[in-house]
Amino acid sequence: MSGRTKKIRQKFEVNSVKRIGLLGGGQLGRMTIEEARPLLAHISVLTPDYPSPAGLIADEVYVGDLDDYNAVMELAEDTDVLSYEIEHVNTAALHDLECSGRNVIPPSFVLGLIKDKMLQKKMLDRAGIPTAAWREVPEAGMIDSLLREAEALGGFPLVQKARRGGYDGRGVCVLDSAEAEFLPVPSFLEKKVPIQKELAVICVMDASGSVRTYPCVEMVFDPRANLCDSVLMPARIDEALMKKAEGLALAVVEALKTELADYCSQVTKKEPRYAPVMAGVFAVELFLDTSGNILVNEIAPRPHNSGHVTIENCVTSQFMQYYRILSGYPLGSTEMVCPAMMVNLLGEADASGEPSYVGIEEALKIPGVFLHLYGKSEVRPFRKMGHLTAIAPTVHEAIRRAELAREKIRIVSL
Ligand code: ADP
Repeated sequence: MSGRTKKIRQKFEVNSVKRIGLLGGGQLGRMTIEEARPLLAHISVLTPDYPSPAGLIADEVYVGDLDDYNAVMELAEDTDVLSYEIEHVNTAALHDLECSGRNVIPPSFVLGLIKDKMLQKKMLDRAGIPTAAWREVPEAGMIDSLLREAEALGGFPLVQKARRGGYDGRGVCVLDSAEAEFLPVPSFLEKKVPIQKELAVICVMDASGSVRTYPCVEMVFDPRANLCDSVLMPARIDEALMKKAEGLALAVVEALKTELADYCSQVTKKEPRYAPVMAGVFAVELFLDTSGNILVNEIAPRPHNSGHVTIENCVTSQFMQYYRILSGYPLGSTEMVCPAMMVNLLGEADASGEPSYVGIEEALKIPGVFLHLYGKSEVRPFRKMGHLTAIAPTVHEAIRRAELAREKIRIVSL
C-alpha cells in the first residue's frame, strides 16, 4: 500500500496578492474565502475554536481569543490587511495597528462606534437619520432608573437593548410592562416600533470612496429563536420605499465616513501614521412601521445574513465585494439578476452534538435551490448551521421553492 504516491501538504501563495487577516472563524469568513478563491486569495483567520467554519478552509489558522490583544498582533504580523467578520474583537489592538500605519477595514474607530449600540444611536441622531426614540438607562440593573426613563419615553411597551455584547437577538429584551424582566447590564430603552416589515440594505464602499447599495431585502424573524429566519430580495415594497431604504443606507455609511474624518483629524496630531480609510461592507437594518415610515434599527460593519442571497442572485456577491474591498480592487456590480429567497438552516430544537443533515438529496431536486452548509462541528438547538437559497424568475416562485426545500431539510444530532 505504501510508496506509490507522494502526499503533499499544499501551500500556494502569489506575491502580488494581498494577504488578508480575518478576525473570526464563522460562516461569514468561510463564505468570503469560498467566494474569493477565483482571485487566488490568501486569507488567514484568527478563531477561538478549532475546527471552525472559516478555519477549515483558510490558508492559515491562528487559534486564539478574538479579544486578546497579542493574538490580534500575531495575526497582523503575517498579513497586509486586517478585517473582522464579527464585532466582538479587540478594538484597541486594531487601533494600535492603525497608528503604526497598518490597514484595518473598516477602521477600528468605525467598529468602536458600531459595537456600542448606544454610540450608534447617538451617531445616527447627530446625522439626522430617523431611528426609534430612545433614552439611556443611567444606572445599570436599577429598576427605578429604568422606570424613570420608561416614563420619559411615554411608557411601555419598550425594547431594552444592551449597549455591548448583543448578537442575534441576545441583548435585546421586549418590555411590555413595568413588571417585565429586564437586562441588568449597561443599556438603553427604545420605543417599541409597530413593525410592518423588517428590511435591510447592504452598502459597499471601497477605499477610493466609490459606494453602491444592493436592492433592499425583506427579513422575516423566527420568534422561537429570535433570529432572522428568511430573507427575500427584492423586498415586497413599492419603488419609492425601495429608493428611500437604499438612500438611508447610503446616508448611514456617509455619516460614518464623516465621523471618521473628524476623529482622524484629532488623532493624526499625535499619531502621524494614523490614516484609516473608510471602506467595507455595511448592512443597514431597517424597520418599516405601520404608518409607512422607515427607521434605521442598526448597522453591521461586515457581510450580513441579509446579504447571503447575493451569492446566487446578484452580479457580485457581498462576499466577493468584501474581498475586492480588502484587496484594493474596484467594486463589482450590485445589480440583481433574479429574485431569491434565503432560509437559515437551524439545528432542531432537541439537537445537541455531532450534526447530521437529513433531506439534502430531496432539497437539491428542487430547481433553483442552492445549499450552503457551514461545517460547524456541533449542532445545538436553533444554531445557524447553514442556509439555502432559491432563485426563480418571480418572487412568488422563489418563495415557493425555498419553502418546499426548507420542509425537506432537518439538522439533527447523531
Ligand atoms: P441584534 O443585534 O441582536 O440583531 P436588534 O437590535 O436587531 O438586535 O433586535 C433584534 C430584533 O428585535 C429586531 O430584528 C426586531 O425584530 C426586534 N426589535 C429591536 N428593536 C425594536 C424596536 N425598537 N421596536 C420593535 N422591535 C424591535
